[in-house]
Amino acid sequence: MEAKQYVDGVLKEINKTNPGEKEFIDAATEVLNSLVPVFDKHPEFMRAALLERIVEPERQIIFRVPWVDDNGNVKVNRGFRVQFNSAIGPYKGGLRLHPSVNLSIVKFLGFEQIFKNSLTGLPIGGGKGGSDFNPKGKSDNEIMRFCQSFMAELYKYIGGNMDVPAGDIGVGGREIGYLYGYYKKLKSLSEQAVLTGKGLTFGGSLARTEATGYGLVYFTDEMLKDNKTSFEGKTVVISGSGNVAIYATQKAQELGAKVVALSDSNGYIYDENGINLDVVKEIKEIKRGRIKEYLHSVPSAKYEDGCKNIWKIKCDIALPCATQEEIDEEAAKILVQNGVKVVAEGANMPSTLVAIDVFQSNNVLFGPAKAANAGGVACSALEMSQNSMRLSWTFEEVDEKLQEIMKNIYHNAKNAAHEYGHEGNILMGANIAGFMKVAEAMMAQGIV
Ligand code: NDP
Repeated sequence: MEAKQYVDGVLKEINKTNPGEKEFIDAATEVLNSLVPVFDKHPEFMRAALLERIVEPERQIIFRVPWVDDNGNVKVNRGFRVQFNSAIGPYKGGLRLHPSVNLSIVKFLGFEQIFKNSLTGLPIGGGKGGSDFNPKGKSDNEIMRFCQSFMAELYKYIGGNMDVPAGDIGVGGREIGYLYGYYKKLKSLSEQAVLTGKGLTFGGSLARTEATGYGLVYFTDEMLKDNKTSFEGKTVVISGSGNVAIYATQKAQELGAKVVALSDSNGYIYDENGINLDVVKEIKEIKRGRIKEYLHSVPSAKYEDGCKNIWKIKCDIALPCATQEEIDEEAAKILVQNGVKVVAEGANMPSTLVAIDVFQSNNVLFGPAKAANAGGVACSALEMSQNSMRLSWTFEEVDEKLQEIMKNIYHNAKNAAHEYGHEGNILMGANIAGFMKVAEAMMAQGIV
């Protein structure tokens, strides 16, 4: 059978067997289409039904999460953990707490995670989880009770050699602390490598907080250098104002760029003089407030309700760091008209498939999420290593390893694109390089 026919057949089957799972189907379509040249070269992968196996999670767990709010009302949310692929190591991937979370979103994230984790060069498989719980406006005690109830079920399925969750949207150091505390109580053991993103006093790694944002900028910097340019003097627009966006802003500013915009789910700020990150950190990391409050400290900045128009701001580099599908075809076309040169994804799947086509057909340098935002999970794997060795590396040691990993990811993706006849297409290269390692491991392990 021809490779293209094989891939089309599997995609047709995915559409049939996962009805309504738009995000998962989009993610699978993007990855599978780019693997056609691989199957041309490796017909043995088709005979082993590699694609049919890789698109089916090894295990999916869906569970009830009951908890009591501060007024004594009983609330119920739905919890998820999708253990997608363990061919190269324990399942690894974050937990997302956001009202939009459903099985399709968790599956798309888990699927992407397989290839992202493979690209880091570290021995970690792919998984993802979360809940439709909305942490916004909840007290610390409510967050703690929710996390404890969530862990009361999840603990049965995770472990340092089994499945190692971490943070994602709505899950930062506070939530990981509560989750870890309850896991330890339920299991009566101190197993630090069961979660990453922990506090520094109980097994966390220096630089984990910064890793995804810094890693995104290291990756983009390598891509810029390879194209004989740099961040110096560039105007940058970054969406989001959470963990990834804040540390991407910090590193881009350190490299001489001017970051002029940030957003949250209510709207965006524009500061033509360059964002004052101390003000943003105070609002987001300490007060857990809204981005609009930036204007209290910097009245010359502008605020607009709604997030979409952030992409109308003229910039050289766009780093979407909020959420999936935030750049659609229209936004991509406006970015291109305004002269954007580089788009690198800090969030997972922030550009729709059509938006990616717009960027690629207009020669915009495009850094896909699974390569560009792999710094967080890479650093999580370094946290696991430190936990196993029972020692802690310095910030500089971790940061140096992170820089090396991000540079390697860029070059491995670029080389894979070249090898398979798609010179310069970092998206295809990342998919192929990430897939090859998992494919070889799956081939070696038989039909499991
Ligand atoms: P945070 O929860 O820290 O921040 C998310 C930011 O995005 C907030 O500013 C939030 O605004 C905004 N946001 C969330 N949903 C929407 C929406 N529907 N529309 C507009 N804005 C929205 O999450 P992270 O920074 O950790 O994650 C951001 C992205 O990066 C996600 O796609 C995540 O999967 C990805 N990622 C994160 C990694 C990590 O290490 N944290 C690793 C790899 C990828 P508000 O405050 O109003 O909700």
